[in-house]
Amino acid sequence: MSQFSSSSQRRRAYQCLKCYHRMDKVYIEAKHRVYNHFLKEHMSMDQAPYYCRLCLFRCFKREELEKHVHSFRRHALVLQEKNIPDSPEFLVSNPSPYLITDRDVAVLSAEESKRQRLSISKKLDSLCFQT
Ligand SMILES: [Zn+2]
Ligand SMILES: [Zn+2]
Repeated sequence: MSQFSSSSQRRRAYQCLKCYHRMDKVYIEAKHRVYNHFLKEHMSMDQAPYYCRLCLFRCFKREELEKHVHSFRRHALVLQEKNIPDSPEFLVSNPSPYLITDRDVAVLSAEESKRQRLSISKKLDSLCFQT
Protein backbone atom coordinates (compact mmCIF):
# COMPACT_ATOMS: atom_id res chain seq x y z
CA MET A 1 0.00 0.00 0.00
CA SER A 2 1.51 3.30 -1.03
CA GLN A 3 0.53 6.72 0.30
CA PHE A 4 0.61 9.79 -1.91
CA SER A 5 0.46 12.17 1.01
CA SER A 6 2.92 14.73 -0.35
CA SER A 7 0.91 15.45 -3.50
CA SER A 8 -2.54 15.11 -1.97
CA GLN A 9 -1.80 17.45 0.95
CA ARG A 10 -1.67 20.44 -1.34
CA ARG A 11 -4.94 19.68 -3.05
CA ARG A 12 -7.92 21.21 -1.35
CA ALA A 13 -11.38 19.82 -1.76
CA TYR A 14 -14.22 22.13 -2.71
CA GLN A 15 -17.86 21.79 -1.79
CA CYS A 16 -20.98 22.94 -3.61
CA LEU A 17 -23.02 24.86 -1.05
CA LYS A 18 -26.10 25.08 -3.25
CA CYS A 19 -26.47 21.32 -3.22
CA TYR A 20 -25.88 21.32 0.49
CA HIS A 21 -28.38 24.01 1.43
CA ARG A 22 -31.09 23.20 -1.06
CA MET A 23 -31.04 19.45 -1.26
CA ASP A 24 -28.98 18.43 1.71
CA LYS A 25 -26.63 16.78 -0.74
CA VAL A 26 -22.89 16.74 -0.19
CA TYR A 27 -20.97 17.40 -3.36
CA ILE A 28 -17.25 17.56 -2.68
CA GLU A 29 -14.71 17.40 -5.47
CA ALA A 30 -11.64 19.06 -6.93
CA LYS A 31 -12.01 22.75 -7.72
CA HIS A 32 -12.53 22.56 -11.48
CA ARG A 33 -15.06 19.76 -11.04
CA VAL A 34 -17.13 21.69 -8.53
CA TYR A 35 -17.03 24.81 -10.72
CA ASN A 36 -18.09 22.86 -13.79
CA HIS A 37 -20.81 21.16 -11.78
CA PHE A 38 -22.03 24.55 -10.56
CA LEU A 39 -22.05 25.92 -14.09
CA LYS A 40 -24.12 23.04 -15.40
CA GLU A 41 -26.42 22.40 -12.46
CA HIS A 42 -27.04 25.75 -10.83
CA MET A 43 -26.56 28.40 -13.48
CA SER A 44 -28.88 29.23 -16.34
CA MET A 45 -27.56 29.73 -19.84
CA ASP A 46 -27.52 33.51 -19.61
CA GLN A 47 -25.55 33.37 -16.35
CA ALA A 48 -22.66 31.46 -17.90
CA PRO A 49 -19.52 33.50 -18.70
CA TYR A 50 -19.36 31.94 -22.17
CA TYR A 51 -21.88 29.88 -24.01
CA CYS A 52 -22.89 28.59 -27.40
CA ARG A 53 -26.31 29.51 -28.65
CA LEU A 54 -26.37 26.54 -30.98
CA CYS A 55 -25.60 23.54 -28.78
CA LEU A 56 -25.95 25.18 -25.34
CA PHE A 57 -22.38 24.42 -24.36
CA ARG A 58 -21.26 26.50 -21.35
CA CYS A 59 -17.79 27.26 -20.01
CA PHE A 60 -15.58 29.70 -18.12
CA LYS A 61 -13.01 30.55 -20.78
CA ARG A 62 -13.11 32.05 -24.25
CA GLU A 63 -10.64 29.52 -25.59
CA GLU A 64 -12.74 26.64 -24.27
CA LEU A 65 -15.70 28.04 -26.13
CA GLU A 66 -13.72 28.34 -29.34
CA LYS A 67 -12.35 24.84 -28.93
CA HIS A 68 -15.74 23.20 -28.31
CA VAL A 69 -16.73 23.92 -31.92
CA HIS A 70 -14.30 21.18 -32.94
CA SER A 71 -14.09 19.04 -29.85
CA PHE A 72 -17.69 18.92 -28.68
CA ARG A 73 -19.68 16.36 -30.63
CA ARG A 74 -23.07 17.87 -29.95
CA HIS A 75 -22.10 21.10 -31.71
CA ALA A 76 -21.37 19.26 -34.96
CA LEU A 77 -24.47 17.13 -34.57
CA VAL A 78 -26.78 20.11 -34.18
CA LEU A 79 -25.24 21.73 -37.25
CA GLN A 80 -25.80 18.56 -39.18
CA GLU A 81 -29.35 18.17 -37.92
CA LYS A 82 -30.30 21.72 -38.82
CA ASN A 83 -28.25 21.59 -41.99
CA ILE A 84 -26.68 25.00 -41.42
CA PRO A 85 -23.08 26.22 -41.70
CA ASP A 86 -21.03 26.93 -38.59
CA SER A 87 -20.82 30.57 -37.57
CA PRO A 88 -18.95 32.52 -34.90
CA GLU A 89 -22.26 34.19 -34.11
CA PHE A 90 -23.27 31.16 -32.07
CA LEU A 91 -20.49 31.92 -29.61
CA VAL A 92 -21.52 34.35 -26.92
CA SER A 93 -19.38 36.01 -24.29
CA ASN A 94 -21.64 37.19 -21.56
CA PRO A 95 -21.03 40.83 -20.54
CA SER A 96 -22.51 40.22 -17.10
CA PRO A 97 -22.04 36.61 -16.07
CA TYR A 98 -22.94 35.25 -12.69
CA LEU A 99 -19.90 35.19 -10.41
CA ILE A 100 -19.43 32.19 -8.19
CA THR A 101 -18.67 33.37 -4.68
CA ASP A 102 -17.78 31.67 -1.41
CA ARG A 103 -21.48 31.51 -0.65
CA ASP A 104 -21.85 29.12 -3.58
CA VAL A 105 -18.68 27.08 -3.33
CA ALA A 106 -16.67 26.54 -0.16
CA VAL A 107 -13.03 25.60 0.10
CA LEU A 108 -12.44 22.95 2.68
CA SER A 109 -9.44 23.25 4.96
CA ALA A 110 -6.51 20.94 4.38
CA GLU A 111 -7.67 18.83 7.31
CA GLU A 112 -11.24 18.59 6.08
CA SER A 113 -10.07 17.84 2.55
CA LYS A 114 -8.08 14.95 3.84
CA ARG A 115 -10.92 13.64 5.96
CA GLN A 116 -13.31 13.94 3.03
CA ARG A 117 -11.01 11.98 0.78
CA LEU A 118 -10.76 9.29 3.39
CA SER A 119 -14.50 9.05 3.93
CA ILE A 120 -15.14 9.03 0.18
CA SER A 121 -12.77 6.16 -0.37
CA LYS A 122 -14.28 4.35 2.61
CA LYS A 123 -17.73 4.74 1.10
CA LEU A 124 -16.49 3.36 -2.17
CA ASP A 125 -14.94 0.41 -0.40
CA SER A 126 -18.15 -0.48 1.36
CA LEU A 127 -20.08 -0.15 -1.87
CA CYS A 128 -17.75 -2.62 -3.47
CA PHE A 129 -18.32 -5.04 -0.68
CA GLN A 130 -22.07 -4.87 -1.01
CA THR A 131 -22.20 -5.80 -4.65
ZN1 LIG B 1 -24.38 21.65 -6.59
ZN1 LIG C 1 -21.77 24.79 -29.71
